[in-house]
Amino acid sequence: MIPVNSVLQVGQFPEVMQMVIDQRITPAHLTDLRAEIPAGSFESILIRSNTQLPIELLEKLPQIKMVATCGVGYDNLPIAYLKQKGIKASNTPGVLNDAVCELAIGMMFGLLRRIPQAHEFVKSKAWSKGLFTVTTTLAGKRIGIVGMGRIGQDLAKRLEPFKVEIAYTGPSAKTLPYTYLPNIKDLAQVSDVLFLACPASPATEKLINAEILEALGPQSYLVNIARGSVVDEAALLVALQQKKIAGAALDVFENEPNPDESFLNLDNVLLTPHIGSATSETRQLMTNLAIDNLEAFYNQQPLLTEVQN
Ligand code: NAP
Repeated sequence: MIPVNSVLQVGQFPEVMQMVIDQRITPAHLTDLRAEIPAGSFESILIRSNTQLPIELLEKLPQIKMVATCGVGYDNLPIAYLKQKGIKASNTPGVLNDAVCELAIGMMFGLLRRIPQAHEFVKSKAWSKGLFTVTTTLAGKRIGIVGMGRIGQDLAKRLEPFKVEIAYTGPSAKTLPYTYLPNIKDLAQVSDVLFLACPASPATEKLINAEILEALGPQSYLVNIARGSVVDEAALLVALQQKKIAGAALDVFENEPNPDESFLNLDNVLLTPHIGSATSETRQLMTNLAIDNLEAFYNQQPLLTEVQN
């Protein structure tokens, strides 16, 4: 049982998530981080991965013992500070794999077959004046996956029926029927489509830089459903503008929700507003898992999906 007014809900939640929250708990709200903290004796925080949790806020709430974030990525949390203060944290791994993989594959096909441009072509009646450009087939291509974790593995399984070869990189080789290449440049060199599915961390910061994009090459595509920080966006923009790579599908950006405007003028990109997990089914599952974790905390049970860092 979660006591009323013991959970502080931080940031804005979509309606579908708020409905789940309101069915299960009665949190206080701090929607705008610049606003006054509402009155209450809060022991936990409920937040989403699109909202950074500032240390300054936690310092004003020294009784907080648990933070539940809705999202598998927890780069929105000050993990070192939480650890130092003995504050537990949970995330929502696994339940969003389906939605993220579906989007990643949809974006890949959108990019290769130029589906948004084809849609515009019909809508603008350009079809009556000529033929749409021919595009690129996936079958026979080589797929690279950076980060063969939960999402990476689900993505690989879904891609197998498309008659592709799959290779991956990451800190460790897995017992999987795909080629492991420890060096990301080697992976980029052999990939026709390179998917990013690793976490945001100091180790992955700007992992995709000019050298890796050069290795990817002018016939190949990048799909980023991980985090904007994994890509050196300045280098990516140059690579796209100078056609050093064929194109990029990007769900995530360094600066959200105001991505670099130079992306908006390119024809070899497909851009989405960080919607990897944004289906109503998935958002409900994520919210329920976050609240299950809060319940476990209040019941003094082990958290279901504790962040282990
Ligand atoms: P996960 O299960 O933890 O998998 C992450 C994988 O990345 C692991 O296999 C890990 O390798 C690998 N990795 C760690 N450091 C790496 C590095 N330096 N280079 C290459 N690979 C590295 O996480 P997940 O559930 O698959 O989620 C992955 C990420 O997707 C999340 O962290 C999040 O940022 C992003 N995401 C985005 C959306 C969206 O809306 N676009 C939605 C959900 C998730 P080991 O197994 O060897 O440790």
